[in-house]
Amino acid sequence: MNLRDFFEKTSSDWVRYSKYEIKEKDGQEYITPAADSKIELYNPLDSAEDLVVDALNVGMLLCIGELNTQNRHDMLISFAQSYGLLGFMTAIPLNGNFMEYPHVFFGRNAFFDLGMMETGEYMKLFQPFGIKEGQPRDGFSLPVTLITGKTLEYSIVFSRNYSERTDWFEGVLKQFYMHFAACKGYEGTDNPALKDAYAETVSCFSEYGLGFRMGVDGKPTMVWDFNSLKMVIETIYAFLVSAADTPLRMCKRCGKAFYAKHGRSEFCSGRCRNQFNVYKSRGKK
Ligand SMILES: [Zn+2]
Repeated sequence: MNLRDFFEKTSSDWVRYSKYEIKEKDGQEYITPAADSKIELYNPLDSAEDLVVDALNVGMLLCIGELNTQNRHDMLISFAQSYGLLGFMTAIPLNGNFMEYPHVFFGRNAFFDLGMMETGEYMKLFQPFGIKEGQPRDGFSLPVTLITGKTLEYSIVFSRNYSERTDWFEGVLKQFYMHFAACKGYEGTDNPALKDAYAETVSCFSEYGLGFRMGVDGKPTMVWDFNSLKMVIETIYAFLVSAADTPLRMCKRCGKAFYAKHGRSEFCSGRCRNQFNVYKSRGKK
């Protein structure tokens, strides 16, 4: 089944700003839109394959761990300027509409080691810099939630005041690439012990909370409800990586993820293919 057919109707609209910056508060690093940035609404599914490949390749560079601070910041900012932030605030809770409740509830997750938190306290975690200069007093960007039909929580996620911890951001992308590497490792080995080890990593990936609602669009239509950009990336990735003869491949030379638009390409670029062949022929000699 084709990606476009399967996810024909979604509530995946997301927000990206023209400029992001890395800021620190109490020794914690955050990524956040710059106060003078411009907001843009877009649908991540329009560039779903690029989104997944870019997320994987940022994860790969973070896994290699040879970047200096400046390069690491530039990479995160460039990703955010292309696709927006990941949306942890609405991705993590069990009750995504937590603004209607005094508490936010958590299932098992990589970010909080507790079952619940006061809603006010929780919201502060994502607005460590308060209301930025020149922003509306209430700190919301309500028109966007009205356009997208999303719940009140997104008026914060989509605002300039919203910030995400960079260690969480990086952690998710690193895990993401490690999973991809395990999928490819599993397919690429005949060693039973190695296959088992890879299978364990592959099976550790799960998503809760992906729902849908019904709407009409000339006929009754299923509308997928994504709670965050993180969920869009993970869902599309899982869909692609598990497809028969998947076009989501790992370059045989450099390990980068790439999307093979046609044929059986095993390399991300002509350069990698040439280098691989040079090394192979040298190896034979
Ligand atoms: Zn390559």
